[in-house]
Amino acid sequence: MITITLPDGSIKQFDQSPTGMDVAMGISEGLARNCVAMMVDDLLVDLNRPIEKNASVRLMTTKDPESLEIMRHSAAHVMAQAILRLYPKAKLTIGPVVEEGFYYDIDMEPISEEAFGQIEAEMQKIVKAKLPIVRKEVSKAEALEFYGNEEYKLEMIRDLQDGTISFYQQGEFTDLCRGPHVPHTGFVKAFKLMKVSGAYWRADQTKAQLQRIYGTAYFDNKELKQYLNFLEEARKRNHRRIGTALDLFSFHDEAPGMPFFHPKGMAMWNTLLDYWRYEHRAAGYVETKTPIMMQRFLWERSGHWENYRENMYTSRIDDADYAIKPMNCPGGMLLFGRKHHSYRDLPIRAAEIGLVHRHELSGVLNGLFRVRAFHQDDAHIFMTPEQIQGEILGVLQLVDRIYSTFGLGFHLELSTRPEKSIGTDTQWETATNGLAAALKAYGRQYQVNEGDGAFYGPKIDVHIKDALGRTWQCGTVQLDMSLPERFDLSYVGQDNERHRPIMIHRVIYGSIERFFGILVEHFAGKFPLWLAPVQVILLPINDDLIPFARAQAAELEKAGLRTEVDLRSESLKKKVRDAQLQQIPLILTCGAKEKDEGTVSVRTLDGKVRQGVALDAFRVQVLEHVAARRLALDLFT
Ligand SMILES: [Zn+2]
Ligand SMILES: [Zn+2]
Repeated sequence: MITITLPDGSIKQFDQSPTGMDVAMGISEGLARNCVAMMVDDLLVDLNRPIEKNASVRLMTTKDPESLEIMRHSAAHVMAQAILRLYPKAKLTIGPVVEEGFYYDIDMEPISEEAFGQIEAEMQKIVKAKLPIVRKEVSKAEALEFYGNEEYKLEMIRDLQDGTISFYQQGEFTDLCRGPHVPHTGFVKAFKLMKVSGAYWRADQTKAQLQRIYGTAYFDNKELKQYLNFLEEARKRNHRRIGTALDLFSFHDEAPGMPFFHPKGMAMWNTLLDYWRYEHRAAGYVETKTPIMMQRFLWERSGHWENYRENMYTSRIDDADYAIKPMNCPGGMLLFGRKHHSYRDLPIRAAEIGLVHRHELSGVLNGLFRVRAFHQDDAHIFMTPEQIQGEILGVLQLVDRIYSTFGLGFHLELSTRPEKSIGTDTQWETATNGLAAALKAYGRQYQVNEGDGAFYGPKIDVHIKDALGRTWQCGTVQLDMSLPERFDLSYVGQDNERHRPIMIHRVIYGSIERFFGILVEHFAGKFPLWLAPVQVILLPINDDLIPFARAQAAELEKAGLRTEVDLRSESLKKKVRDAQLQQIPLILTCGAKEKDEGTVSVRTLDGKVRQGVALDAFRVQVLEHVAARRLALDLFT
C-alpha cells in the first residue's frame, strides 16, 4: 500500500506504486491533461515515474513556473530530433534551458536563420505526433556502447557515475539526459527558433566550433506572441539605435566603453542634472567635488587598493602610484574628516556627481547600460544614530519625487546582515532597525532579503520599472560601518565625547549614463517636453520667412527653450515628417499669414494642430509646462 499526501493535506492510497498520472487521474481527467511533471517529496520528476514509497506529491501543471523550464528543455529535445532528421551527420552536445528559452549546441555544418523555417516545420510534425517521452535508466557501459563514435556524448558519459545515467526517448530520438520532461511532445505547443551563433565545445577556443541554436517555447500561442511583441518593442526602443537616430551619443574605438555625448545628448544630460540639483537643494544637500585621480595611500586606506585594484586604472607619476577613482566615497571621507564636527552640524548631506572609471571586461560592455566611465550621483550622509530613521525616510521621499517625475514606478528591497560582517550586534541592530523603521514610516510595501547586505552594513535597493515592465536597480541606500572607521571620522556629541558618525552612501540615478539609457528606452525617444533635446522646431514655409522664424527662435532661446530652425528648402510636408522622426515635441510652421498676425501654427508630436497661436501666449504656456516638468504633452487642454 502506497500513501500519497497532496499539498492540501488530503491522502490517496494505492495498492501498487502509482505514477503521477495515476494520482492526477484519481483527481480529475482535466487535471491529468494539464499535468507536466510532479514533485515527489523534494524531487522534481517525470509524471510517469512510479512512486515507490509513501510520499508527499505536488502535481505540476502548465501554470507552475517550474513547468515552463521542463517544457522548454523538452522543446530543446524536439529541436534536436528535428535537426537530426534534416542533418543526419549532426552531432549533439548539450542543450540547456536559459532564462528566456533554450539552446542546443550542435556540431554540424554552419546554418543561418534561413534554415529555421524548415527546422520549425519538422518540429511541428514531432509536436503533432504527441510522441510519448520515455525515461530509461542505463548503465555506464550501455550508455558508452549506445553512443559508439559520438565523441561529445562519450566525453560527457565518462564524467558521469555509473548508476546515475538516464536516456530519454521520443520516437526514433534518444538523448542522454537527466530530465525531467513533459509526458509527450504535444506539450511543446508554441515555440520559435530565435537565433544561431557559434560556440566552442566546453567554451574552449582550441576545440570544435559548434552551432548554438536558440529557441523559446510557451504553453500557449498567446504567451509566445506576447513575448515576441515584447522583443520587437524592446528592439525599437533600443537606446543605442535611438541614440544614433536622435544624435545623442556615440562610442569610439579610441575609448572602448566610454561614451561621447553629442550636443543634443548633452542638452538632455544638463537638464537631468539641473533637475537633480533642484531637488537636492530643496532636500538640504550640499554639493562637493573631489579629484578624479588620487594617490595610492588613499586607496590603501579605503581598502580599494587591496580589494578592487584589478578594476582600477592606475598610473605612476613622479615616482608615486595614482589611481583613477572607481567610486567617489574616499574623497568624500577626506572632506568630512578635514575639520571638527559637533553633533549640532549633523546631519551633513554632501553630494557629488563624480566621474568614475571601472575596468569592465570588453565582453560585458553594453551601450550606456554597462560602461567603463560613468558619473555617479553619490551622496554621503553623516548623522547621529538617532537620525537614521529620519534621514533614510528623507532619501526615500526624494527617490519617490524624482522617479515619479519620469513616470517610473519602483519597489524597495531591504537587505540585512550577511554571515560575514564587521561591526557589533548593537551596531547592526541600530542600523537595520533604523532602515526598517524608515521603510515603515514611508508606508510602502518592501521585500526583505535576509543576509543579502554588504559585509559593512544593511542597505535598501530601489528597483524601477520602465514602460515595458522591465525592472532596473538604480537607487541604493547603503549604510557603511567600515569607511568611517578606516578614515577615523568623528563628531563631538552632546556629552562632549568623540563619536563615530553613522554614514550612508546613496545614489538615485545610480550611473547617470545608465539612467540616461533607461530613459531613452522608457520613453522610446519621445521625451517629455522639459527633457527633450530639441523642444521646439520652427519651419519657415519659404526662404523669405527664414528671418521671421529665426527671430522667433531667438526669443524662445532667450526664454530658456531649446530650439531649431529648419533652413532646408524642402517641402513643408517633408520638414514636418523629419521633425516628427526627430521626436521634437513642438513643431511650429511660420507662413506669411502667421508673420503678419504675430502668431504661429503649432503641431504637437501627438498630432494635434492649433493655428493662429499668439507668440507671447505660446511662450508663456510652454515655459509653464517645462517648469512643471509635466509628462503628457497637454499644452492646449
Ligand atoms: Zn535533455
Ligand atoms: Zn559612497
